[in-house]
Amino acid sequence: MATPYEKTDKTIAYLNKQYAKLFRNAMSFDELNVIEVSHEIYDEAIKVTEQETARLVKTVYDSYREEGSFSAEEAYSFVLALMLAYNPVTKYVYRNEIDRKRARFAEGVLSSDTPQQEVALAKRLLIAMNKQFADDATFEALVKAYTDDGVERVRWITAVDDRRCPTCKARHNKIYPIDKIPSKPHLHCRCYIQKVDKVVEA
Ligand SMILES: [Zn+2]
Repeated sequence: MATPYEKTDKTIAYLNKQYAKLFRNAMSFDELNVIEVSHEIYDEAIKVTEQETARLVKTVYDSYREEGSFSAEEAYSFVLALMLAYNPVTKYVYRNEIDRKRARFAEGVLSSDTPQQEVALAKRLLIAMNKQFADDATFEALVKAYTDDGVERVRWITAVDDRRCPTCKARHNKIYPIDKIPSKPHLHCRCYIQKVDKVVEA
């Protein structure tokens, strides 16, 4: 069976290309304009991340919701809220962390003898950060779809691919109330949940 992360990798791949383009286009900076350039890169990165992640969130939500769907605006608001929420797995608020990454990038370029290495590092960090964000957004869209459908209990499913989580193995098939799903225990966890149908139990 397909997992909810089916479209997630496509979103990540597309965004990575966009980030690469942004850093490439901004190669002509010096100490006079680096702050300005760093704002341009990261503002644009946030914009494209919001747009693409909203598309991803809508796809996931609509695929798993039985009685309804997200409008484009709802999906967009969902992503904006997620960017402003504290994430217990990453231990940061996405928007704050983006600001910190932008500031560190500008500082690095200003103080380094090899600014191109700072550019490469900043790009890698942004790519890793957004990979995590896309995974989180996928999972949260799934939880939201089930919650909005009135699902009460869900079953934890451990990812069984090359990303298999040894730390999640103990959770496999465990059932949780939908409002008490534990946080992902580590970064890049691709576990997900399935709804447990309301049935009369013997
Ligand atoms: Zn996991």
